[in-house]
Amino acid sequence: MIPSEHMFYGFFASLLVLFLFPSLGTFGFLIVFLSSFLIDTDHYLAYVYLKRDFSLSRSVEFYLAMGHEHKTLRTKKTEPLMIFHTAEFWLLLVILSFFNLFFFYILIGVLIHVLLDLYSSKQLDILHVRPYSVIRHFLRKN
Ligand SMILES: [Zn+2]
Repeated sequence: MIPSEHMFYGFFASLLVLFLFPSLGTFGFLIVFLSSFLIDTDHYLAYVYLKRDFSLSRSVEFYLAMGHEHKTLRTKKTEPLMIFHTAEFWLLLVILSFFNLFFFYILIGVLIHVLLDLYSSKQLDILHVRPYSVIRHFLRKN
């Protein structure tokens, strides 16, 4: 799912959370909404790390080409590790949520995002291409 789709669905999902839990307030709504698509900044960070290139447009091209490869060529090639899309990062957010509500709002936005990612990956039959755990990713590599 591309960032603009995440923004669109994230906005309405955040509105639904606000409707169900009005105590979320404007600040909470904004944090949930922003986290529902800003989590994808890890794609750019992974690109910068892998390619040693800071170009945002080339990173977009890189991931569009990878998406095309997965969809049309049905490759089994795994994606780079996306740190904010891993169980370890979510666990860290769960722990931090006990200390500060801010992290709980981020966790809700991340959950919205990940559910959308899982849904679209399942639709495209590419659930297997993304490593969802840092530990598993490095165990698989060795
Ligand atoms: Zn994502």
